[in-house]
Amino acid sequence: MGLTISVLTIGDELLNGEMADTNTAAIARLLASRGYTVHDSSSVRDVESDIVEALRFLTRQREILIVTGGLGPTADDLTSRAAATAFNRPLETNAEALAQIHRHFARLGLAMHPRNEKQAHLPRGVDILPNANGTAPGFHLDDNGCKVFFLPGVPAEMTAMLEQSVLPALAKHLGQGEFLHERVLKVFGLSEPKTEGRLDAIKLPEGVQVAFGVDFPFVHVKLRVSGAAADTRLEQAERLARQTLGDFVFATGTDSLAATVARQLTFAGQTLALAESCTGGWIAKLLTDLPGASVFLERGAVTYANSAKRDWLQVTETLLEQHGAVSGECALAMARGIRRNADTDLGLAVTGIAGPDGGTPAKPVGTVFIALTSETTERVHGYRFPGNRDSVRLLTACMALDWLRRHLAAAER
Ligand code: ATP
Ligand code: MG
Repeated sequence: MGLTISVLTIGDELLNGEMADTNTAAIARLLASRGYTVHDSSSVRDVESDIVEALRFLTRQREILIVTGGLGPTADDLTSRAAATAFNRPLETNAEALAQIHRHFARLGLAMHPRNEKQAHLPRGVDILPNANGTAPGFHLDDNGCKVFFLPGVPAEMTAMLEQSVLPALAKHLGQGEFLHERVLKVFGLSEPKTEGRLDAIKLPEGVQVAFGVDFPFVHVKLRVSGAAADTRLEQAERLARQTLGDFVFATGTDSLAATVARQLTFAGQTLALAESCTGGWIAKLLTDLPGASVFLERGAVTYANSAKRDWLQVTETLLEQHGAVSGECALAMARGIRRNADTDLGLAVTGIAGPDGGTPAKPVGTVFIALTSETTERVHGYRFPGNRDSVRLLTACMALDWLRRHLAAAER
């Protein structure tokens, strides 16, 4: 099946930095989920001659072209006119499209503005693609040996029409795509090369492909397989990959580190209190992004200044003078303080220098201490995280969550 699919998005806003082109990504994702691959994509401005040129060029190169944008009623919506020019068809009022626009307004109980009639001016001989969520009908035509689908730019309308009209058309004309089964393992604490090194050293089942991606600070290992018995081979591959990656794998699929920790805490019936300095509440935010966090999270204190560490966590003046706020001693005192005050099973604290200022030769930017206390254990450790303020803070929050994950996993065993 040598089909090549191209996506063309139209709109000034996509090329002047006003708006990111999310339509291409949405189309690619949806097609990929059905086993089709987007070969390439491009964007053009709301300039008629540019649209004409792109349509002519792409229809000669590709078998399928999906176009979004510029079907609206305003003067800057030029796609239909450009299509008529590109494919040497007269522009005429399409009765079916007009009826659909009338029906849309009738459903909303509104009178149609005369300008909306423009949306029914389409190249001769096109098939109309219904739009259940908006005024602009889409349309489809065959030209230069290419099937072209024109969809509105509004993402929700575009996606609905892609599913409703374009995917069935693709399946009918091209057969089902080669369905790709994929499993994503998420890794924290191993770099991308180290992760790859571990996987290189093992033999995965026949036909299983491995791809890597970075979603900082995480590495994603994507195991992919198609064809017969794909499920079984994917399961084998996952088992082998997990063996070699060990407990660096914290989640699969769309699951997150915070979600894993939340599940562990809920399952163990353990409660948690946080004392955050350099992360400013980021850990609490990651955990409270999930519904149900109240089951395990008692409180999170942002204790930024020394006075806050003294007042809220009873870190002593002497300790602060002797060791400084960025020290293992302080982190441990913070974790003990919050756990005592909140009366929780676990107390977790972080303190560090996120930069860009505040570093010293002894404690440069990126110096971070994490402490975890429970009834039976106390742990504290210092790190020197690389990168800018954002990276240091994100690494700190993720490392702290990873401490919880490992602590709770050990307790489960
Ligand atoms: P309408 O009937 O709403 O005018 P249209 O087909 O004319 O539909 P456009 O005017 O090109 O669509 O785009 C409408 C809106 O949809 C844009 O203002 C923008 O917010 C959004 N949009 C268009 N193209 C894209 C894209 N490629 N990615 C993300 N959003 C987009
Ligand atoms: Mg537009």
